[in-house]
Amino acid sequence: MKLNENYEPVIGLEVHAQLLTKTKAFCGCPTTFGSEPNTNVCPVCLGMPGTLPVLNRNLVEFILRMGIATNCSIAPRSIFARKNYFYPDLPKGYQISQYEEPICTNGWVEIDIDDGSRKKIGITRIHMEEDAGKSIHDIEVDTLVDVNRCGVPLIEIVSEPDLRSPKEAYLYLSKIKQIVTYLGICDGNMEEGSLRCDANVSVRKKGEKKFGTKTEVKNMNSFRNVERALEYEINRQIQLIEDGGEVVQETLLWDANQNVAVPMRSKEEAHDYRYFPDPDLVPVLVDEKWIARVRADLPEYPTKRRDRFVAELGLPAYDADVLTVEKGVADYFEETLRKLSSVSGKPAKEDAKQVSNWVMTDILRVIGEQKIDIDDSPVSPNRLAGMIGLVYDGTISGKIAKEVFEEMLTSKDDPKSIVQRKGLLQVSDSGELEKVVDEVLASNQPQVEKYIGGNEKVFGFFVGEAMKVTKGKGNPKIVNEILRKKLQALKN
Ligand code: ADP
Ligand code: ZN
Ligand code: MG
Repeated sequence: MKLNENYEPVIGLEVHAQLLTKTKAFCGCPTTFGSEPNTNVCPVCLGMPGTLPVLNRNLVEFILRMGIATNCSIAPRSIFARKNYFYPDLPKGYQISQYEEPICTNGWVEIDIDDGSRKKIGITRIHMEEDAGKSIHDIEVDTLVDVNRCGVPLIEIVSEPDLRSPKEAYLYLSKIKQIVTYLGICDGNMEEGSLRCDANVSVRKKGEKKFGTKTEVKNMNSFRNVERALEYEINRQIQLIEDGGEVVQETLLWDANQNVAVPMRSKEEAHDYRYFPDPDLVPVLVDEKWIARVRADLPEYPTKRRDRFVAELGLPAYDADVLTVEKGVADYFEETLRKLSSVSGKPAKEDAKQVSNWVMTDILRVIGEQKIDIDDSPVSPNRLAGMIGLVYDGTISGKIAKEVFEEMLTSKDDPKSIVQRKGLLQVSDSGELEKVVDEVLASNQPQVEKYIGGNEKVFGFFVGEAMKVTKGKGNPKIVNEILRKKLQALKN
């Protein structure tokens, strides 16, 4: 969609990330997804009178990773507040959330924008909070409530209004996803709600210094939807102003089926959450030692890893980009490379492109098709390396390798057994291949005439035919050699 050039959008995002801790934020209940409704609960997360919440240390550990990775200042002392509101899926009647004194403030991340430069996007704050339960609106039985999610730990990442287009918002959100998955603190899945985004947006005339009145768009459950919803809302605001109207501050819900944002509540109806410090929780104290330890343990940052793939492994920039978008993919690639180098005895640099090709085309395709995480790939790094090794040592041809790979998707056997079981061993026996070549030349006389007449291009045709006869199992190097020898003899 084309946006009116006389206006400039201003966007700030509020992103919620559900943390991968094993237990909830303030009790020992498991955070397992998909359990029987209302089974992962206890008196604490149900908010029974007389119970006391105790902060999960891992929640702090995880937010520290995020804060440090995004260049935030870490508060040595931060506190929790109660955010009061009534809703059926919130039995306590309030959510515990950091409010006035969050643990992380004043950070930034960089995004790669279209003109090839990098742009810094400010992060106002990152704070800890707990999730509420879930209301399931069922047509037949009315509304059901599942409180398993009550108390599951979240972090909220609030950006500065630094984003200037839906595309930049998309890039920023992708960056946040990349960071949380690299840090191993969130699985980053927007469709399943582990990553949620609310977008604040306003428009102003180009050159204007003051921000316009903003609206907030909620309920976008995919990266595409965030971009679409923002385009929609920006156009609506511009149209409104062009028609002499005024933007009013309100919250809108994105409807992905209709491609429209529907007003949910205006400023007048906004909740008054009556925040106050939670008297049941002590302040969170973080000392320099803790910060230093988390900093030292941070995994290699995506951009750094990408640069290393190019510099040390000689990969094309494109490959390095694709492989480092997700930490799991980069880990898988490096693990396969390590395994392969240990069998091939070659320096990693010589195997890197080969492994990259398999991961980018075959592994990523399979996990995309099966909608699974790379950690659950039916072909492990070990088996993939084993199979590439078979191509290296001449056991199978590159073409047969694709067949073996397909077989590995459904069979747990190691690649060597598959090759044996399916009779896919490469034919390197010169005597046997000579017979094949003779047969091909004999049954393709017109092409042989052409070749002798000087048309060298038909050489590839002979190779293809010979491979067909061997059902792809002929060793292409030897087939090539024999063909050259025989054709040369015919020419003389
Ligand atoms: P509120 O008081 O409504 O919560 P905040 O100032 O806390 O608003 O900002 C919430 C989010 O809205 C932040 O991500 C911020 O960057 C963004 N934001 C603030 N002002 C504007 C504006 N005029 N246009 C677009 N986004 C804005
Ligand atoms: Zn509990
Ligand atoms: Mg605010």
